[in-house]
Amino acid sequence: MHEVSIMTEAVRLAVAAAQAAGARQITGLRLRVGTLSGAAPEALTFAWDIVRRDTLAERAQLEIETIPATGWCATCRAEFAAADFLGECPRCHEPGGQLQHGRELEIAAVDFI
Ligand SMILES: [Zn+2]
Repeated sequence: MHEVSIMTEAVRLAVAAAQAAGARQITGLRLRVGTLSGAAPEALTFAWDIVRRDTLAERAQLEIETIPATGWCATCRAEFAAADFLGECPRCHEPGGQLQHGRELEIAAVDFI
């Protein structure tokens, strides 16, 4: 379950940002997670409850923003909902579309006081 290490790193970064700002407590952490990032939101939430213990983020609210996977078809010059990494365009069935979104796995915001 690599979500634990992802979450450990997210909390470490959030705590570092809060400490650098002289904050006493993290009140919120928002993550942006693409549907093709390989990280499951439920597993991240589960990991969050463990790794935030005894940190500045202990009482913070976690918010996970799910980013749907989208690709770009150069033939149709159109964006489409990507089902997987193959990036097949649903209109012309041309493979090799450029994956534009869906791989995100990042901290969108850290709120602290
Ligand atoms: Zn197409």
